[in-house]
Amino acid sequence: MGKPAVILLSGGLDSATVGAIARDEGFTLYALSVDYGQRHRSELEAARQVARWLGVQEHVVLGVDLSQLVTSALTGSCPVPKERLPEEMAEGIPVTYVPARNTVMLSLALGWAEVLGAADLFIGVNAVDYSGYLDCRPEFIAAFTRLANLATKAGVEGSLRFTLHTPLIQWTKARIIRRGTELGVPYERTHSCYDPDANGLSCGQCDACRLRLKGFAEAGLEDPLGYRRAT
Ligand SMILES: [Zn+2]
Repeated sequence: MGKPAVILLSGGLDSATVGAIARDEGFTLYALSVDYGQRHRSELEAARQVARWLGVQEHVVLGVDLSQLVTSALTGSCPVPKERLPEEMAEGIPVTYVPARNTVMLSLALGWAEVLGAADLFIGVNAVDYSGYLDCRPEFIAAFTRLANLATKAGVEGSLRFTLHTPLIQWTKARIIRRGTELGVPYERTHSCYDPDANGLSCGQCDACRLRLKGFAEAGLEDPLGYRRAT
């Protein structure tokens, strides 16, 4: 068995690819998915399927209902924006931003990692496509790594030196998809849409769908997902 690593698995394309990369590097994976009250529930089912495909040692789906504390388009407080151009997506902090989400999720992952004796954490953040998500930036990751080593018994006593792995942080969506395809990631089991219908079908129009489709197009590959309307 390889070294243990905790991975935050959302069920999306990025975290599935990160899982495949971590597995390829020989880590034994412990996957954490957070049910934070996201309106796109199909994401959690996708996370279960991806975890199964990755052959993780353990998959925990933890309920932390952030919608009781915060407002975001992703927790149903306002409509998900549609048909935005890449320039518009890159402007400012989007309404789909969930306050402090990555800080909350990484803290949960860190606690579990300390219990497991895992010094390595993987997260599929990306600073290229969503410049508005401040908790996806390298500065945030560096600060959280410092915090991880200050905030835990294992870090302070030196039994574990925590490292946050963010292999996708500077990759374009097309590069992520190409690498994932090489590693055999079953993208048909992943879920990206912020606003799927009752059957889990993706809308094809929200930022997440548009970036995903653009990524597949730029990679010269076909997105195996079904969409509500022709895209
Ligand atoms: Zn969508």
